[in-house]
Amino acid sequence: MTVRVRFAPSPTGIPHVGNIRTALFNWLFARHEGGSFVLRIEDTDQTRLVPGALDAIIDSLRWLGLDWDEGPEVDGPYGPYHQSQRLEHYRRAAEGLIAKDAAYRCYCSPERLEQVRAEQARRKEPPRYDRRCRNLNEDDRAQEEAKGTVPVVRFKTPLSGREEFDDIVRGHVVFENETLDDFIIVKSDGFPTYHLANVVDDHLMEITHVLRAEEWLPSTPRHLLLYDALGYAAPQFVHLPMILGSDRAKLSKRHGAVSLLEYRRQGYLPEAMFNFLGLLGWSLDDRTEIISREEFIRYFSLERIVKNPAIFDVEKLTWMNGVYVRALSPERLAELLIERLEEDLPPDVPRPLDRDYVLRIVPLVQERIKRLDEAAVLTVFFFVEGPLEYPPELLLGKRFAGKRDEARRALESATSRLPAVDRWEHDALEGALRPLAEELGLKAGDLFMLVRVAVTGQTATPPLFETMEVLGRERCLARLDDALHRLT
Ligand code: GLU
Repeated sequence: MTVRVRFAPSPTGIPHVGNIRTALFNWLFARHEGGSFVLRIEDTDQTRLVPGALDAIIDSLRWLGLDWDEGPEVDGPYGPYHQSQRLEHYRRAAEGLIAKDAAYRCYCSPERLEQVRAEQARRKEPPRYDRRCRNLNEDDRAQEEAKGTVPVVRFKTPLSGREEFDDIVRGHVVFENETLDDFIIVKSDGFPTYHLANVVDDHLMEITHVLRAEEWLPSTPRHLLLYDALGYAAPQFVHLPMILGSDRAKLSKRHGAVSLLEYRRQGYLPEAMFNFLGLLGWSLDDRTEIISREEFIRYFSLERIVKNPAIFDVEKLTWMNGVYVRALSPERLAELLIERLEEDLPPDVPRPLDRDYVLRIVPLVQERIKRLDEAAVLTVFFFVEGPLEYPPELLLGKRFAGKRDEARRALESATSRLPAVDRWEHDALEGALRPLAEELGLKAGDLFMLVRVAVTGQTATPPLFETMEVLGRERCLARLDDALHRLT
């Protein structure tokens, strides 16, 4: 059997990290098995479509490198892959079910259904359709049709018995039919509901395994009833564990971003996100955290998916991102930084940034950033051309607070000593300033901090002398001069 799996998002919102975890597990299973990964767009709920959602789904998959073998943009032998273009299949299936007496037309108005629900609520009963139209005779039906009522189609759920199946993650699962109602399979607008469209397509597209979030588990008995009534064989079900925030509450906005693309915006790398999501409910050996894409493909198995909820720990993701940032080649990091910095640096910094210059900055920041969005703050002074903006008190810091003259004298000495450095390289610069500190009776760190603020406008920077080397003689001397003026 060739494995065929699908990711079947509804374009009703911006893809959540949980949706993309589902996509990733499907993709990994397909790639591990040498099977096919299908992207199917479940767009039959016309009232809930959100403009831009489909683009965001495609963008998210592309960002993580989850390519699909069939689906929008690539097409394939089982298309079309948008459910809104497949209505004929669902219509035919629904007609077949009605003909077999496995489904029926229901003419109840929304007002009547509301009344039924209100009464059930009063009697503290679970809300469900009271099956009024389940046994209409020819005459009743003709009467309703004559009134022009547009019906929905409901499935005739057996009143007793049970649906059972073996879920690869959850084990044996049983649902009593009496807990299910006569669910709608075709809405009054003629569109199928999720249940019908999903089952018809999984059958027609020859899907072998349905990997989806645990929240769909209660839909599965309905799907099994449909498979059975339509005479289709059901696929294997694999319900993926829930994703919780660090406080063990269901992951939501309260825990920070839930949209995958928001993480891209925050400067996370796709390879880190891939690794992180891959461990939300699956593990290689309960220990290994850093796993490459190739290793994931090689080792992924349904058997190692866990039942317990997975925890989305942003701190762990950030740590992991730092690991991946440090592993990047300097060229690749430079490329990513250029893109990011051109967005984040102040508008007066001329663009495009110079690649060779950024390449010189890379070794100074690679160990110091975990997320790409930290780069601008850490490197802005490499790019600003005019005078730096910082308050004079920053120069004084704790050490020289109230001792402006002492600070000025120290800075003056540094400013007159540095032009004599003939090679503007970090070791020569350090060779000039370290002895100077001693001469002035200052701790080296205190003098260096003064110079650091003068040449960068900041107290936290990459190592001072490497930074000065990249900044270059002219810019450093001009900034030292400028700092001196501020102290005078
Ligand atoms: N359209 C459903 C969703 O949005 C698909 C669920 C399933 O995989 O069956 O997730």
